[in-house]
Amino acid sequence: MYTRLGENVSDPAEADAVARHYHDAIDRIHAQHADCEPSVKLTQLGLDLDRTRAVAHVRALAEHAQACGTYLWVDMEQSPYVDTTLDIVREARAVAPVGVCLQAYLHRTADDLARMVSRGIGVRLVKGAYKELPDVALQKKSDVDEHYFTLARTMLSAAAGGFRAVFGTHDTALIARIRAHAGSINPAPRHEFHLLYGIQRDQQRVLASKGAHVRVLIAYGDYWFPWYMRRLAERPANVWFVVKNIMG
Ligand SMILES: Cc1cc2nc3c(=O)[nH]c(=O)nc-3n(C[C@H](O)[C@H](O)[C@H](O)COP(=O)(O)OP(=O)(O)OC[C@H]3O[C@@H](n4cnc5c(N)ncnc54)[C@H](O)[C@@H]3O)c2cc1C
Repeated sequence: MYTRLGENVSDPAEADAVARHYHDAIDRIHAQHADCEPSVKLTQLGLDLDRTRAVAHVRALAEHAQACGTYLWVDMEQSPYVDTTLDIVREARAVAPVGVCLQAYLHRTADDLARMVSRGIGVRLVKGAYKELPDVALQKKSDVDEHYFTLARTMLSAAAGGFRAVFGTHDTALIARIRAHAGSINPAPRHEFHLLYGIQRDQQRVLASKGAHVRVLIAYGDYWFPWYMRRLAERPANVWFVVKNIMG
């Protein structure tokens, strides 16, 4: 999987260039016969400037991805974007398969998950990366983890009906719980783990060697430094992850 770093563009031409970049990447990866899925951010496709244009980009990318035998993922950004993101993903689903990221720290996610399942939209469940207020999001890591597992159980139940259930996490304890729960269902539902490139590589290898479906998300592009600094500033706990991983 791949994503070009960047968020909120300030000029429609930039959004068009991002869309062209992904169309080109889809073609090139298809030509190499690689199994590699794009993951896009709506603000990078111009959502703040022109919603209609952003929708057109997402629909075209979803169709192109399908034509090339791959699948489009849409990332989830800060909470004010959730409704629009889910609406746009639903519009794209009308033309081609598409998946969306949902954040376990948001109080609303169980309802959103039910809606996505009913519409055949794949879900990549993550804990959530942004600084959010208590009225919209759980604040304690242990509460987020528990909510994640509850949502994961719903996803595994739905997976039996063909729903694409993806867990985007590096949390080894959570991964073990999800795998154990999936193993307790007969037949075990298909599910995947998506991890970030370079983080806990051993864990990625161990999971794959145990037969889990694992994909790695590669984030690339010139924008990596501001993107990374913003993530660190928004959620200081991320600093500790980075230090631990660098030391490890
Ligand atoms: C494939 C994928 C897609 C994502 N897409 C989105 C998205 O669209 N929207 C969104 O809000 N969030 C997204 N995220 C980020 C996610 O919300 C979390 O912030 C991030 O994954 C950390 O949470 P965790 O589940 O890994 O568990 P944690 O409990 O936070 O971390 C478990 C362990 O993983 C390691 N670790 C985790 N993150 C990092 C890091 N950044 N650098 C170094 N080590 C780390 C640490 O060792 C840590 O102890 C995505 C994550 C992944 C893996």
